[in-house]
Amino acid sequence: MEKNTQTAAISQVEISTTWGDQFKQLIDTERGKEVTGIAELKKYLNRFGYIRPLPGTNFTDAFDDRLLSAVSKYQSNFGLPVNGRLDSETISSITTPRCGVNDFSLAGPLHTTRRYHFFPGQPRWTHSKLTYSFSPTNTIDYLDTSDIRNAFRRAFFRWADAIPVTFVETPDYLSSDIKIGFYKGDHGDGEPFDGVLGVLAHAFSPENGRFHLDAAEKWTLDFGTEKSKSAVDLESVATHEIGHVLGLAHTPVKEAIMYASLSPRTKKVDLTVDDVEGAQFLYGSNPYFKLFSLAAPDTSNAGVYMVAVARILSAVLMLVFCTAT
Ligand SMILES: [Zn+2]
Ligand SMILES: [Zn+2]
Repeated sequence: MEKNTQTAAISQVEISTTWGDQFKQLIDTERGKEVTGIAELKKYLNRFGYIRPLPGTNFTDAFDDRLLSAVSKYQSNFGLPVNGRLDSETISSITTPRCGVNDFSLAGPLHTTRRYHFFPGQPRWTHSKLTYSFSPTNTIDYLDTSDIRNAFRRAFFRWADAIPVTFVETPDYLSSDIKIGFYKGDHGDGEPFDGVLGVLAHAFSPENGRFHLDAAEKWTLDFGTEKSKSAVDLESVATHEIGHVLGLAHTPVKEAIMYASLSPRTKKVDLTVDDVEGAQFLYGSNPYFKLFSLAAPDTSNAGVYMVAVARILSAVLMLVFCTAT
């Protein structure tokens, strides 16, 4: 993998399977105890950058100090009470479907704030007109192509609305900046997909542009017609992964698009102030976002509200402007 290129992935854990149950049985395991399943929990935390095995050893089932440290770090990153314990809230968070990108890079620290995060080195695109294209061969056939394109268009627009970056779809896949495709299993980039559920998608940090979705998932654009309990909203995942394409890592702000967890059958597509401020840190802001983002409160519920207000006022201002000229 290229230096300074990180992958980002949305992963989902099947709620009703032994995977989740395996971690649920660890609730309230005390420090110093040895319980079957702790090693798997360590592997999970290792997968997302919280802990690594000591050289020459494998993870054990012991709840040791290193696990305590990793759990504390996880809790901090997910906006949970930081106590280092496997309490029900922490286990619930771990068993919730989530993005598979490393929350922490074991190769180096992510740029962190209490809110939005970046990849190491804060990579960003150096040109502002980005093209995107869909792979002509790596596709899914059960969703209408025009519906997929419209969903991505809406997802790109949400980001372009906030920052002076434009996204233009191009049929020229090979030369486009952002290359979108659906892939199964090992597809040659060192980040194999894992079939139904598990990892859902991943995107690479700037200026790589690769944006891969797991073709094995039950993607949907309409929960009204798609009844599968494991259905995943394509537009929500697209909006999240575009954030990674732009250079954003995960945020501890739960309501933000760039938060790591995403429940199944959930549509989460509205950028919060946390998302907007992170993107604007890298790219600057569009004029009409600037005033309102400066006044942005810390909580994302309010953030959603502020962005909505900004959009409404922007529309009003545009209307006044058009009326006056
Ligand atoms: Zn992610
Ligand atoms: Zn890939």
